[in-house]
Amino acid sequence: MKLIQESALQYLSVKLPLLGAFLMLAALTLQWALDFNFIPEQYAPFIVGAVLPALGWLGRKIAQPKLHNQTLGFVTATAGHSNTDPGAVNGKIKEADLVVNFRNAVTHYLREAGLHVKTDGTGTKNDPLSAAVKLITGSSVAVEFHMNAAASKQANGIETIALPKDKKLAQDLSAAVASALGSRLRGNDGWIDQSQSARGSLAYINAGGLIVELGFISNEAELAAYQARYWIAAKAVAKVLIEYEQRN
Ligand SMILES: [Zn+2]
Repeated sequence: MKLIQESALQYLSVKLPLLGAFLMLAALTLQWALDFNFIPEQYAPFIVGAVLPALGWLGRKIAQPKLHNQTLGFVTATAGHSNTDPGAVNGKIKEADLVVNFRNAVTHYLREAGLHVKTDGTGTKNDPLSAAVKLITGSSVAVEFHMNAAASKQANGIETIALPKDKKLAQDLSAAVASALGSRLRGNDGWIDQSQSARGSLAYINAGGLIVELGFISNEAELAAYQARYWIAAKAVAKVLIEYEQRN
């Protein structure tokens, strides 16, 4: 995404005083020219009344598309599953509820940093995948949070499923979560190439998003670490996304 432009000159609050200063200078120059009769006196009203407005008109006619097309990008942050699809469960604990908390925490930190964020709901709301996928269009980066589950209670670790173009970002996201939760990285240093994922083709990733698996809900130790420290992991994920936005 584009961060707010550094150049102050595009803002009217800066332009208008500058214009005023220029006009003062122009008037003084004009006065001086009149005093020395460089410009015959009868032409002065013509210059002030016609030439300057004409220049202003010309300025408006010259297109400056950079100023008009300056749209700020946004981050899409979504929670896996939905209010009606719990995802994986461990006893009474539902994946969908855990990842909603994570989405909310990441969103908090992104907005605190001044980024625009689109989410698939606020509070406990968790719109279904079809709605989440639609939010990806136009975003500079889109992440969805999930938790893994396996028949083996030993299965553990963090992974981010993404297209090859997002390999580095996927690895950075996984590393941020793993270090915050004290987990290990799965796949290629935390990256799972979608084409090599057992899940096959995922709509969210095909639309340009990344799916971060925040650990195994089926692993008691990993679940406990997640519940105790997810806020720290979310802050670390937000930091990776903020740095990514600053580079792009
Ligand atoms: Zn899931």
